[in-house]
Amino acid sequence: MSTRDLRRLDHLTWPEFRDRRNQSVVILPIGAVEQHGYHMPLGVDGQLPFHLALEAAREFPAIVAPPIWFGYKSQPRSGGGGHFVGTISLDGATLTSIVRDLVADLVRQGQYLIVLLNGHMENTAFSGEGADLAVRGLTGGEAEGKVKVVLINWWEHVPDELIAELFPEGFPGWEAEHASLTETSLMAHFLPHLVLFDRLEDRSEYIPVPTYSVWPEPEGLVPPSGVLYQAHGASAEKGKRLAEYIAAEIRKILKAEFPDLAPD
Ligand code: ZN
Ligand code: MN
Repeated sequence: MSTRDLRRLDHLTWPEFRDRRNQSVVILPIGAVEQHGYHMPLGVDGQLPFHLALEAAREFPAIVAPPIWFGYKSQPRSGGGGHFVGTISLDGATLTSIVRDLVADLVRQGQYLIVLLNGHMENTAFSGEGADLAVRGLTGGEAEGKVKVVLINWWEHVPDELIAELFPEGFPGWEAEHASLTETSLMAHFLPHLVLFDRLEDRSEYIPVPTYSVWPEPEGLVPPSGVLYQAHGASAEKGKRLAEYIAAEIRKILKAEFPDLAPD
């Protein structure tokens, strides 16, 4: 715990980072501060991509940046919502600007190979917009033609067959997966002290997510716990399987997109 981790940007000295530029990708995890039921903390959506990035970086040259801990507004349609105390969110334009600024500044520093690893569904379009605006701004500059930014949503790289094998009792679908089986299992694997299994909600019926949005956001679209489907059936062992699988899928993407860095 207390050792220096050379996969982490915040643990490197500046000459170490200088010398590793473009021999590694920089992975920027993007999360959210959002309710995750009675049994998990507000920071799940940043912790999971941060730890998945570190896992991927075991076998691919990568430097993991400090996460963007805050994200775009949590939505009832993906199992969240702004009514829950502790769900603290950015406007879309702000998240877009943060991503654009960080991508542009990495490029200014001579780091051209960048991966955005997202842990919160609602961030997807704004993260991509930030990357696109940063890259468009390079026209005519020294970095033009050298920069590549890749955006990955971790949950889009878990096949249905693995879900069926790990959770034979049922899976509610990714929109309703908020604080449920996969997130709880992954947290139990990476950060077991942060999962309060004795506070799991007992609910076997599946509560469907709303199929349209309303502003101002009506109350009561999501149950008081904030969880649409029970997390019984989640475990650290299943989280380990998921983490290894997802990290391997991330490495496949990195090898395909950054073949010059791929280890033999
Ligand atoms: Zn989450
Ligand atoms: Mn989320």
